[in-house]
Amino acid sequence: MSSFAAPPADHPRCTRPVEECAARLKETYRDRGWLGVELDENENGALRVGTVTPGSPAEKAGLKTGAIVVALNGIPLTHDSTRGGMARDDYWKAGATLAIDLRRGPRSTSVRVTLQHYPDALVAHIVEAHVRDYHQSAAN
Ligand SMILES: [Zn+2]
Repeated sequence: MSSFAAPPADHPRCTRPVEECAARLKETYRDRGWLGVELDENENGALRVGTVTPGSPAEKAGLKTGAIVVALNGIPLTHDSTRGGMARDDYWKAGATLAIDLRRGPRSTSVRVTLQHYPDALVAHIVEAHVRDYHQSAAN
């Protein structure tokens, strides 16, 4: 999952006009903060760091693939709080600073990351993927 960019798997086929949809997606990502990392929830509700995008805020902050995010802004991630915390819009605005507590093997570290705006090319890619997955189906 690319930083929660993709809609859930049960997202219904999109029936809006493509242009309207693209405009809505661009609007959605206009103020959203970009970390530049894939995060996968593990069995404990913590988040495992997946692919880190080169040049992203995540890479600059030293996030490494395989590390586990155990807390966000001081709030430990559990099954209940992960979804709540990840859904908090004020954590994920461009320009916001996230405090991320990480564990990698026996080592624990804490980093602060200032989220950037989504790069235009990435938003374009997200729009493309959405159109491909939800508008150009082989249905009918
Ligand atoms: Zn759509």
